[in-house]
Amino acid sequence: MQETRASSGTVVIVGTGQGGFQVAASLREEGFDGRVLLVGDEPDLPYQRPPLSKAYLTGEADADLVRMRPETFFAEHGVELRAGEQVTRIDRAERQVVLASGKALPYDHLVLALGARNRPLPVPGADLDGVVQLRTLGEAEALRQRLDAAREAVVVGAGFIGLEFAAAASRGIPVTVIEATDRPMARAVSPAMSHFFRGAHERQGVRFAFGATVVRVLGTDGRASGVETADGRRFAADLVLVGIGVIPNAELAADAGLAVANGIVVDEHLQTSDPAISAIGDCAAHPSRFAPGAPVRIESVQNAVDHARCVAARLAGRPAPYASLPWFWSEQGKLKLQIAGLATPHERAVVRGDPAQEGKQDGKGGGFSVFCYSGGKLVGVESVNRPLDHVLARKLLTSGVTVTPEQAADRGFDLRSAGARPEKIR
Ligand code: FAD
Repeated sequence: MQETRASSGTVVIVGTGQGGFQVAASLREEGFDGRVLLVGDEPDLPYQRPPLSKAYLTGEADADLVRMRPETFFAEHGVELRAGEQVTRIDRAERQVVLASGKALPYDHLVLALGARNRPLPVPGADLDGVVQLRTLGEAEALRQRLDAAREAVVVGAGFIGLEFAAAASRGIPVTVIEATDRPMARAVSPAMSHFFRGAHERQGVRFAFGATVVRVLGTDGRASGVETADGRRFAADLVLVGIGVIPNAELAADAGLAVANGIVVDEHLQTSDPAISAIGDCAAHPSRFAPGAPVRIESVQNAVDHARCVAARLAGRPAPYASLPWFWSEQGKLKLQIAGLATPHERAVVRGDPAQEGKQDGKGGGFSVFCYSGGKLVGVESVNRPLDHVLARKLLTSGVTVTPEQAADRGFDLRSAGARPEKIR
């Protein structure tokens, strides 16, 4: 690794989201005594995105609850927060970033925590009033208000955000989810888990159209009134939520000549092709010991936070390669899905517990887990309402200890006896 010493000097962090905020906080925790500037184009104090499609949407959390820290935190920790400022250019030769206002901010080390943006729906009518996306606090606030007035919703895309929205919206209005593949969360979970969630949503009244592609949003007087799919079907809706994946915000890096391929390419220390610049979180494509081969780009809180901690430790003089196990969660109604490891692709999956019981009891059936195997090795564990399985799975996967499919399926087998090292799990 080429040295990127900045244990003093100025660190400029671009992006005030999950990763950017964490770099600033961790630099101070690590004892970094240089200048820390946190610059982002959103006007708000740094906030968490996960509640936006869950408790914030249902009104169970307000804006104060989703904020990372109160405003006083930043002055108290010597973090210069520049909210509402867009970085338009990186001047690598001069080691400075240029803001939309024309002002330049010099850096000794630059951290790009730029996140990702929602993929737009590429069909006629996508600009009609009532067609919305969900990423920012502002969008969540607007969506909450629209939901109060909406009569019927269509969700385009059965990914995590679409399904979390469907779970919340179907409490009050009919919801149809339109998905191009043949099952929900197809890119992220096993067929068994997709099957379970499909059933659970259907029991709450959510309708699905699989293998269907939206070709047009229908509208009258500038307002959405429904969508049409490629097979000619029409689905009425005055609210259309689009959740069809994201595009990493990598243009700033590409324009500056940094390596970019499905995100900003970084090494195992999360350094870009310029050793004075690191990239973390949703925008970074990094090597992972849990996914041998091509670099991975992971969209999760764990990934952003652990990347941030890794870079902060390096800048404070304690470098160590990034080695954290990926893990993720989603909440859909009363169901909490937790995923440890990278389970896709896998060749074999075994179920521990009884999904049918969980389904019947709507969250009171004791939960279940799906253990996923590739090349005979445990690579991922998906758990529903079964937090202990999740915690133990993280220990197993971090230690590289494999339980056999037979052991995993045997509810009498104690996962703790499998020999996972008692490493600290954050
Ligand atoms: P972000 O938090 O997106 O922050 C990037 C910031 O950089 C943004 O504020 C962006 O505006 C800013 N920026 C970009 N370009 C510039 C520029 N040129 N100048 C200045 N600022 C710029 N993950 C989970 O693990 N569990 C969940 O349940 C979950 N739920 C989610 C629900 C929703 C609705 C969303 C949208 C995401 C959810 N995620 C969840 C994903 C998680 O929030 C992200 O993976 C995480 O926020 C990534 O952090 P980040 O710092 O990489 O990017």
